[in-house]
Amino acid sequence: MRLALAGKTAPTPIDEVVRRYPDVPRLLVIKTDVQRRGVFYSDAALALLDETQHQTTGTHIFGARDGLIALRPESLLLRDGSSIITTPTPLEENPYVVDAKDGVPWLFDDGIPLEAVDYWPAPDFYARTSSSGVPMKNIVSARPQRLNIFPYRYCTFWNNNKGCSFCDIVSQLKKGGKELNIPAKLDPREVGDVIGEALKEPGRFSSVFLTSGSIVSGQEAFDDEVDYYIQILHEVGRHFKAPKFPSQIIGTAFTKKQLQRLYDETGLMSYTSDIEVLNEELFNKLCPGKAEWIGYREWKKRLVDAVEVFGPGRVNTGLVAGIELAGPHGFSSEDEALERTLDEAEELARQGVSTVFIVWSPRPDTPLGDQKNASLDYYIRLARGLHALRVKYRLPIGFDDYRHCGNHPDSDLSRLLPY
Ligand code: SF4
Repeated sequence: MRLALAGKTAPTPIDEVVRRYPDVPRLLVIKTDVQRRGVFYSDAALALLDETQHQTTGTHIFGARDGLIALRPESLLLRDGSSIITTPTPLEENPYVVDAKDGVPWLFDDGIPLEAVDYWPAPDFYARTSSSGVPMKNIVSARPQRLNIFPYRYCTFWNNNKGCSFCDIVSQLKKGGKELNIPAKLDPREVGDVIGEALKEPGRFSSVFLTSGSIVSGQEAFDDEVDYYIQILHEVGRHFKAPKFPSQIIGTAFTKKQLQRLYDETGLMSYTSDIEVLNEELFNKLCPGKAEWIGYREWKKRLVDAVEVFGPGRVNTGLVAGIELAGPHGFSSEDEALERTLDEAEELARQGVSTVFIVWSPRPDTPLGDQKNASLDYYIRLARGLHALRVKYRLPIGFDDYRHCGNHPDSDLSRLLPY
């Protein structure tokens, strides 16, 4: 299938947005819109995918926007080194198209070529197999500069059907269990071995990242989740000489005692706990498991507690931006959503907690799957607002920036202004 229109040129709708925000680089506007609308890979683009050279869709704990598990590029790189973490999306939803042009993949909007893109290069260890016979790439995966560990592919908030409304972790586990060879729960020792293999590639990786679904069990709620992370981080730490190593966890909002254990007993250097939406009423509706086990105000308090444990500039929280506008309970306008979200983000920033966002991608196996995400203007304004808060409160975001994560348009802006 060829979807590009030869000879058609700019301007595209994106150029108007670029003009409205001269302080935001064009490539960041493109990245954000590609995350917002998703991508469709043409046959010619897929023919350029080479499993020995490129990362193909791997260990996602969440699903794709077209609901499929198939061999596709893991994601895209722009010419300034920015990652576009995006998801394959059905053509009828008006995604960007990745097609071949002059023998390389390009992004197209409505047939107009926008930018050449690269598929993410495959790390050396992707070709190897673990001691238990699992492909190593199914145990540890890679962002361009980061090693990702998703040790537990279930979330116990779904035990009583109180998982988050945008989340498809359980359906993805069921699908992936059949089609992929990925263990639902990883053996910490094996994780450590694979990290050791990955680190043999010189200069490739600069941090280790860990996240899983919440585990409510334990003597105190979530003790089992903390214990499991500690086991894994011990195994990862075997490969570092210093007691602390560049690392980030996205975990549940833990108590101060649990946070202190994570910090004292492991090499962990930064901590993230995603509140998902900055409004108590919406949090209660959209994240009922988090509300039931911890609660909105307590979640925020624990984030602030984490700053005392990990230090300023080492703690943040994530939003799934766009859900605050969805459904019957969402804010009625983007202006209101922006103002209320940034107000609460500022309250956190004042106390040393950064806020980052991902662009919400409505996926079919989720309760909010039939809703639309927000406008490109909204996402650009939110990115500028969150970045401005980090500048105002002098909060570094190096552990979650474009090099390490690449999934937050707001923290991409940090490369423009050192602080
Ligand atoms: S905490 Fe929410 S988003 Fe995260 S895995 Fe559980 S249900 Fe999904």
